[in-house]
Amino acid sequence: MEKKQEKSDLMEKIVSLCKRRGFVFPGSEIYGGLANSWDYGPLGVELKNNIKSYWWKKFVHQRDDMVGIDAALIMNPKVWEASGHLSNFSDPLIECEKCHERFRCDDPHSPEATQEMFDHLTKKHSDVKHLVSSFKLIGENFTKPKQFNLMLKTFLGPAEESVNTVYFRPETAQAMFVDFKNVLTTSRKQVPFGIAQIGKAFRNEITPGNFIFRTREFEQMEIEYFIHESGWQEFFEHWKEQMNEWMREVGINLDLVHEVEISEEDRAFYSKRTIDFEFDFPFGQKELFGLAYRTDYDLSRHQKESGENLAYKDPQTGEEFIPHVIEPTWGVDRAMLAILVSAYQEDGERVYLKLKPSMAPYKVAVFPLLANKPQLVEKAREIYDLLRKDMNVAWDDRGNVGKRYYAQDEIGTPYCITVDFDTLGEKGEELKDTVTVRDRDTAKQERMKIGELKAYLKEKIG
Ligand code: ATP
Repeated sequence: MEKKQEKSDLMEKIVSLCKRRGFVFPGSEIYGGLANSWDYGPLGVELKNNIKSYWWKKFVHQRDDMVGIDAALIMNPKVWEASGHLSNFSDPLIECEKCHERFRCDDPHSPEATQEMFDHLTKKHSDVKHLVSSFKLIGENFTKPKQFNLMLKTFLGPAEESVNTVYFRPETAQAMFVDFKNVLTTSRKQVPFGIAQIGKAFRNEITPGNFIFRTREFEQMEIEYFIHESGWQEFFEHWKEQMNEWMREVGINLDLVHEVEISEEDRAFYSKRTIDFEFDFPFGQKELFGLAYRTDYDLSRHQKESGENLAYKDPQTGEEFIPHVIEPTWGVDRAMLAILVSAYQEDGERVYLKLKPSMAPYKVAVFPLLANKPQLVEKAREIYDLLRKDMNVAWDDRGNVGKRYYAQDEIGTPYCITVDFDTLGEKGEELKDTVTVRDRDTAKQERMKIGELKAYLKEKIG
C-alpha cells in the first residue's frame, strides 16, 4: 500500500515539475484544455529533440546500412486497406449501461478489468453499490466487448463526402514499406538495410491517460529493417541488443525494464516473434517499446494491392525475393516519461533530474555572482556567449546563487559556472580568469580557468 502511494506521489511530482518548469503543459489550457492533449514547453521540446536526434545519430548517421525518410502524414487510404488497419486496427471496448462511459477492455474477466468496472460503479453509480459483490453483477452493468477502430478520420478537399475520407497515420511504419522501392533505387542500399522515420501518429484511443503515456496524438521513432528470411533470428537479436544499448545511453534505468515475450495467441497473426519492452512506470508495468519480426507480410500485401513489383534481386546470388522485416519501434513520449522517471532524484532538500548530459535541455548554466556588479555581469556574459556557440546554455542572474543551483538541479542542468570577484583578479593574479564549476550530481565545486572550460565541457557532455 505504502509503495503504491509512493509511486502515485512520484507521478504527481513529475507531472508538477513538468508543468512548473516548462517541460509539458496541458494543451489549450486557456480554453479549459482538451482532454489528454499536452504541449511540450521550452524545456520539454529540448529534451524531446535530444531524444530524437540521439536516435537519428545512432541508428542513421552512424550506420552504413540505414537511411531515413520523412513521409506525408496523410497517405492514400488504400495503404490502410492493404495493411489491414481499416479492418483490424481496433481495441475491444465495453460501455457502462448507465452512463455510456467507454472503457478499453481486453478481457472483461481479468482482475484488472473487474476492478476498473467495480471502481466505476462505486464512484459514479452509488445506487448499484450494494449490488456489486460478484463479477456477474458487475458484468451486468456493462455491454459485451465490441471492436472499436482506432483510425482517426478526416476529409480532404472542400466537400465532406466519403469519397474524400482519409486517415491520419496510426503508425509511421507503413510509409517505409510504401516507399521501399523508391528508397532502394535512390539510395543504392543492398539487403540487409533499414529505413528509419520519426514522426507523429494518431490513434483514437478509447482510454487515453497517465499523462503523456497514452495520448491520441503522439510521436514514434520506427525502423523497418529489410532482410533475407534466413537471417531473421540473428537480426532480431541484433536489434534487441541495440534497443537495450540505446535505452542505457539515454538514461533509461534498465532495472525498471522488462523484456516480455509475446505469446503466439497474443501476437499479430503475421508476426513470428514479438518482444515488448515494458517499463515500471509509477502507474504500473506497461509497454515502452516493441520489437517484432513481421515476416514478408507488409511488402507482400503492398505488392498484391498496388500491383507494383516489390521484390528485391540479390546482386551477388541473383535470387529474387520479397524481403522480410525486423521492426524495432519506439514511442518518443514514452521514452521521455521513462527518462524522467529514471532521472528523478530527491536528496534532502534538493530535487534534481539526473539526466544524461546528452539529454539535458541545458548543458550548462552561467551566473554572475551578483547581478548588480557590471564587471561580473560582463565577464559572465562573455563566457555565456563563448559557450553558446557549441551548446545550449542557461543564463541566470536572479536571486542568490543557492536558489539558482536549486533551479538548475530541478531541470537537470549538469554544470553551473559562477563568475565571482576572484575571476576579476581581486584576490590576486593566480585566481584571475578562473571560475567555479559545480557538478549537479555531487554538488561539488572546482575552480577552473576560463580557457579550459570549453574542452572540459565538451569532454563531459559528448
Ligand atoms: P499499447 O498496447 O500501449 O496500446 P501498442 O502495442 O498498440 O501500445 P505499437 O502499435 O506497438 O503500440 O506502437 C509502437 C510504440 O508507439 C509503442 O511501443 C509506444 O511507445 C508508442 N505508442 C503507441 N500508442 C501510443 C499512444 N497512444 N500514446 C503514446 N505512445 C504510444
